[in-house]
Amino acid sequence: MKSYKVGIIGATGMVGQRFATLLERHPWFTVTALAASGRSAGKTYTEALGGRWAMKTPVPESMKDMVLFDATADIDKVAEQVDFVFCAVNMPKDEIKKLEEAYAKREVPVVSNNSAHRKTPDVPMVVPEINAGHIEIIPAQRRRLGTKRGFIAVKSNCSLQSYVPALHPLKEAFGLEAALACTYQAISGAGKTFETMPEIVDNVIPFIGGEEEKSEQEPLKLWGRVEGDRIVDETGISITAQCFRVPVSDGHTAAVFARFAKKPALEEIKRLWAEFKGPAQELRLPSAPKQFLHYFEEENRPQAKLDRELEGGMAVSVGRLRPDTQYDIKFVCLSHNTLRGAAGGSVLLAELLAAKGYFD
Ligand code: NAP
Repeated sequence: MKSYKVGIIGATGMVGQRFATLLERHPWFTVTALAASGRSAGKTYTEALGGRWAMKTPVPESMKDMVLFDATADIDKVAEQVDFVFCAVNMPKDEIKKLEEAYAKREVPVVSNNSAHRKTPDVPMVVPEINAGHIEIIPAQRRRLGTKRGFIAVKSNCSLQSYVPALHPLKEAFGLEAALACTYQAISGAGKTFETMPEIVDNVIPFIGGEEEKSEQEPLKLWGRVEGDRIVDETGISITAQCFRVPVSDGHTAAVFARFAKKPALEEIKRLWAEFKGPAQELRLPSAPKQFLHYFEEENRPQAKLDRELEGGMAVSVGRLRPDTQYDIKFVCLSHNTLRGAAGGSVLLAELLAAKGYFD
């Protein structure tokens, strides 16, 4: 496999820090540029971070003295140094849309964690195990942007990163009709730690702006199909969600209820979860978990604190599968929100794009 030079746009943020740690020793990707806001530009990574480093491992040696670019003002300079960029910035949506298109139009592919382009019909939103085929829309997007190399690919929201993978093989086998998900989301999902979000201690906050809409709608794009120059959403499935912020550092848990056209047997569901693989595993992408869906028989699992780091935080944990009185089944699932749900999911998507030649 060729190696690629990569930039991190939003390197000082919670997701940007995860990118830095994941890419420190990546076999295919080497970080050659870091960028953030004008407040950080011109400072070394260590200076720009100040006291904000929230990872368990130290700031990567190879990056700590790199001088940050201004993500907007220095696009040309970043473009000269990289083959593609990861992007995770906290800016108004319309500004993120313009920023990502500006990089793509300078022939820099963008693999994004931001939600700004998730609804753009020719931007693939990909979980490599579920809908890798959606990257085939990229030539159509390049035609719209007028680019040869540049494009935008995104990952889906962290809230649904546990329940969509768990529902996916069941959808195929039994015809998913309706699902209800209540999510219990970690504070790192808001870019926060217990120090910067003291109001969450001894508390549950029953609102996360925009999250329920994403949790209900994004699965339909993931399960959609490429039709000409757009991705058309799945229409036959109804999803409803409530999203809570809970006092957990990392790891989003979901309580899920689901109804199917064909009533499934519980043992059959567990077998489908155990056997489930996607292109990420078949292509042996470096960040792919060997076993994507792990089922726990213990009645008190999965737990955020015990299970979020499973397979480097890239696997999804599932448990408590049982029949339901109103739906066919209910279960609990968990995924690490800044690993599989954010930076790790983007790195895996970039590996898929690299393996399929989209950065060449
Ligand atoms: P964060 O910790 O608040 O970090 C925000 C980053 O954006 C920082 O690097 C910041 O740079 C940069 N930034 C802010 N204003 C900017 C500007 N005008 N120009 C360029 N860069 C600017 O946020 P986060 O949690 O990492 O989230 C980043 C993005 O990822 C968001 O779109 C979020 O929705 C998405 N996301 C987050 C998660 C998660 O679990 N945290 C999951 C999925 C998706 P400075 O340090 O210079 O201000």
